[in-house]
Amino acid sequence: MRQQHLLLPTLREAPTEAEAMSHQLLLRAGYIRQVAAGVYTYLPLGQRVLQRLAAIVRSELDRAGAQELLMPALQPAELWQQSGRYELYGPELVRLQDRHGREFALGPTHEEVITSLVGSEVSSYRQLPLTLYQIQTKFRDERRPRFGLLRGREFLMKDAYSFDLDLEGLDRSYRSMFDAYVRILDRCGLNYRAVEADPGTIGGEGGTHEFMVLADIGEDTIVSCTNCGYSANMEKAEFAAARKVDARDSDSSGGCEDSVSSIAAMEKFHTPGIKTIEELAVFTGAAASDCIKTLLYVADGRLVAVLVRGDHEVNEIKVREALGAQKLELADEAAARNLAGVSFGFIGPVGLNVPLLLVDRDAANMPEAIVGANEDDYHMRHVVPGRDFAPTLVGEYRNAAAGDTCPHCSALLQFHRGIEVGHVFKLGTRYSEKLGATVLDRAGQTRTLVMGCYGIGVSRLLSAIVEQHHDPNGIAWPAAVAPFQVHLIQVSLKDEQQTALAESLYRQLREAGIDVLLDDRDERPGVKFKDADLIGIPIRVTVGKHAAEGLVEVKTRFGSADAVVMTVDELLLKTKGVREQ
Ligand code: ATP
Ligand code: MG
Repeated sequence: MRQQHLLLPTLREAPTEAEAMSHQLLLRAGYIRQVAAGVYTYLPLGQRVLQRLAAIVRSELDRAGAQELLMPALQPAELWQQSGRYELYGPELVRLQDRHGREFALGPTHEEVITSLVGSEVSSYRQLPLTLYQIQTKFRDERRPRFGLLRGREFLMKDAYSFDLDLEGLDRSYRSMFDAYVRILDRCGLNYRAVEADPGTIGGEGGTHEFMVLADIGEDTIVSCTNCGYSANMEKAEFAAARKVDARDSDSSGGCEDSVSSIAAMEKFHTPGIKTIEELAVFTGAAASDCIKTLLYVADGRLVAVLVRGDHEVNEIKVREALGAQKLELADEAAARNLAGVSFGFIGPVGLNVPLLLVDRDAANMPEAIVGANEDDYHMRHVVPGRDFAPTLVGEYRNAAAGDTCPHCSALLQFHRGIEVGHVFKLGTRYSEKLGATVLDRAGQTRTLVMGCYGIGVSRLLSAIVEQHHDPNGIAWPAAVAPFQVHLIQVSLKDEQQTALAESLYRQLREAGIDVLLDDRDERPGVKFKDADLIGIPIRVTVGKHAAEGLVEVKTRFGSADAVVMTVDELLLKTKGVREQ
C-alpha cells in the first residue's frame, strides 16, 4: 500500500484525554479515532491489525474444532427475560424499542441467542459435542469507559459456546478452548497468565479462568505464588494465613478469654474530622492494622455491615457468596445517617443496629481494636471483638494482601496488575434449563445440555499488545499482528535512482507475498522516520544514499541494533523468513 493516499493521520503530541500508553499511541499513530466515549472508528491501520488478530483467533478456534457463525447485535428482550437476565444485567445492558414499542437489547454477550438456537436446532446426542463461535460487535454501557479500546462501550469480541451431554464432555470442551487461548496469546507475542477467577454475573458452577496480560495499567490484580503455579484473580484469590488462624480458633478459645480479661474496658475518644483509616492512624499513632473498618452494604435489599482490619480491603465476591446474595452494592452515605445518625467515617460495630454483621477472620481475631463510635467526631479504643460486639458471621471476607501466603504450598504470594483479555467459563445448565436446550441421549431420555462459554476481547487484545510492545518512540508490533511487515521508505522523491529502486522493491516484495507500506510522501526524511517509529512496522527498509549501488538499509523496529546495509537479494531472503513465521 502507498502511504501518500493512505488515511494515516499521525499526531506529534499525545492527546490530553488519553491516560493509557496504548490509547495515546493508537491515537498518535493514526490507528483509531474516538467518536463518543468508549466508541471508536478503526482507521485503515487499526482495521488491519484488528483483522490480523481476528484471523489468529479464527485459525486457532477452527483448529480446536469450533464452528463459526454470526449472530445479531439486536436481540429481543423476551430472550433476556426468559434467562432472567433482563433485570439482573442492570444499566450495562443497552435497551431500546422498535417503532412498535417492542423491547430489544444490544447484545453485550450471546448466551441467550445461542442457547435458544441450539435448543431448536439440535435434538440428538449424536450432534454433540458442539462448539460455536463468532467474532462480533458487543455493546456494554460501561460505567467508566476508558483507556481507549481497553474498556469500550462498543467493542469486538470473539465469543464461543460449547454444548455437551455431561460434565465430562464439558471438561473436554473447556480444556480444548483453554489450550486454543494459550496458542492465540502466544502467537500475539504476549506475556500473560491464566488465572482462576470468579464466575461473576454470568453465573454457573465449576471452573473459570481469566487470561491476564501483565501490564501496570491493568484494572485487575493477579495474585500468584512465588513458589508453585497457583495464580488467581484478586476477587477469587485464597491465602493460607486465614487457615492458620482457623486452627488457632478451634483449639485455644479458652486462652483467648484469658487474654480478653486483661484488656481495658472500651473507651470513647474525640477524633474531630478524622474519617479515614490513614487519618486515624496518624492521629492516634496506631497502625492501620490496629483499627477495624466498618463498611455498609446492601445485599439484595438487606443492609449488611462488613468489618475488616484497617489495612485490609473487603472482597465483595466473598461477602456475596457468604450471604448467598445475587447483588451486593456499597450503601450510600444516607444509609449511614439513617442507621446510626453519623457519616461514613464514624460508623462502628458497637451497638450498631444492623441485622447482619460480617466480620473478617483477621478482624475477629484482633485482641483489641480502634473502631468508629457511631457518633460524629468520635472513635472507640480497646474494643474487643466478641466481647464488645457480636458478629453474625466470621469468615474470609477480604482480599489477599502483602505478606499472605499460598493456600497450596504456604510460600509468599506476589501481586501483579493485569488486563483481562480472555475468559473461559463452565456454565453448566443455567441457560439451557431456562431456554429449554435439551437433547435425547442414547437411551432416548431427555437431557439438558451442559454449556461452557469463552470470550476474547479482540479489540481489547489490540490495545493490550501495544501496552506490552512499545518504547518512547512509538509502537513496536510483534510480526504476527503488525499492519504491514515491511515499511519501505524512499528518502528523496526527487532522486530517480531511489524511485527506480523503491518501485522495483515494492513490486518484488509484494510478489513475494510480503505486506509492504511504501512511504512515497513528499516529506522530510526526519518526518518519515519519526512516523515509521510511531507506527511500529517490524522491518524498516530505507532506500537512500546507497540506491545507486542497489543497496538498502534495513533496521528492525525492535531492539537497538543499527541499520544494516544489504543488497536487494539479501533483503528478499530476510523477509522470506518473516513470511514463514
Ligand atoms: P471486565 O471485568 O474487564 O469488565 P468482563 O468480565 O465483563 O470484563 P466478559 O464478560 O468475560 O468480560 O467478556 C469477555 C471478554 O470481552 C473479556 O475477557 C474482555 O477481553 C472483553 N471485554 C469485556 N468488556 C469489554 C469492554 N468494555 N471493552 C473491551 N473489551 C471488553
Ligand atoms: Mg465487565
